[in-house]
Amino acid sequence: MKHFEVAIVGAGIAGLAAARALDTQNYMIFEKSRGPGGRLASKRVDDLRVDIGAQFFTARESRFQEIVSDAIDTGFVKRWRPRMGTFIDGHATASPDSQERFVGAPYMNAMGRYLAQSLTITTQLRVATIFHQDNQFHLTSTDGEVYTASQVLVTVPVDQMTSLLPSYDVRDIASRFTMEPTWTVVSDLGTTLRDRHDDPLDALFGGDHSVFDFISTERSKPDRESSYVVTHAKPDWSAIHIEDEPASVQSQINTALETTFGVSVKPIIAHRWRFARPTDPALTSQKGVFEIDDGLWVAGDYLAGGRVEGAYLSGIEAAERLNR
Ligand SMILES: Cc1cc2nc3c(=O)[nH]c(=O)nc-3n(C[C@H](O)[C@H](O)[C@H](O)COP(=O)(O)OP(=O)(O)OC[C@H]3O[C@@H](n4cnc5c(N)ncnc54)[C@H](O)[C@@H]3O)c2cc1C
Repeated sequence: MKHFEVAIVGAGIAGLAAARALDTQNYMIFEKSRGPGGRLASKRVDDLRVDIGAQFFTARESRFQEIVSDAIDTGFVKRWRPRMGTFIDGHATASPDSQERFVGAPYMNAMGRYLAQSLTITTQLRVATIFHQDNQFHLTSTDGEVYTASQVLVTVPVDQMTSLLPSYDVRDIASRFTMEPTWTVVSDLGTTLRDRHDDPLDALFGGDHSVFDFISTERSKPDRESSYVVTHAKPDWSAIHIEDEPASVQSQINTALETTFGVSVKPIIAHRWRFARPTDPALTSQKGVFEIDDGLWVAGDYLAGGRVEGAYLSGIEAAERLNR
């Protein structure tokens, strides 16, 4: 049975940030998918990739600004300066702002790949349960492997965290830090999105629109060539339609795009995020980490404001606890 000083579950931004800040080299990150990045996700469509999770991130705190600046220097991250809009009375309306926005280049998960350089990750391994026995933690995988660790950090979304820890009472944290779903639809748009005065827009917040939460055009981001548009539906709309067939969701969102912008779009894919973002981003635990048991910690965006930056800061705060 392989033993690690620290086992980290999840190679999203929180898990990667934590691993980079660990004092020990005797750690392992377990990740169920094929690569790092988590919800900074992109998906292959034909010969192209398209961002289907976070469309951009901001950097307000100095520790995150520092790492973003390093990632920019090495070309993994670039600035994105979209012509922004929003919906007012259901109409697309220009809303220029001075917010600095960043994207992975050429796709969002480049930020994950940047952080993962020189880290040790076991991918395509889904942790099934974590329990304490004989003074150490045991992690079982869904394909029957067992690993032990002196300390464990779990960085998966809160609902998935609760099922990994059946022998712990995590009801309190699970009932406070809830997450909301998002349906994401990718469509091919042969033309430009325009506001009500016919001025071009690259991305829009949902504003008071009943369906749209965020819309962005891939081509407006650095290093992307596709004519895809990514639409995130509002959390309440997504919750109502959560069990709908992807084809039905695509059809409803594409119809909303066509009627709103007077354009015709070609359906590409729909992706269901059951746990996209925290319901209340203002609700944070102290420094974005939580100790479940002596040596067993949880971290992640849901404890730290629900964004890429929050996930990163939560990860490095968790590493500080693990290093002690
Ligand atoms: C649709 C959408 C839009 C968003 N928009 C924005 C935005 O505009 N700006 C912004 O800053 N943020 C945005 N976010 C949020 C941002 O993506 C997250 O805050 C951040 O990526 C979370 O990082 P994390 O490390 O906490 O969690 P995750 O990225 O979820 O990482 C958890 C990792 O754990 C892995 N995992 C799960 N279960 C297991 C298991 N049993 N065994 C092994 N591995 C497991 C997962 O595969 C994943 O890689 C958005 C998210 C979504 C989904």
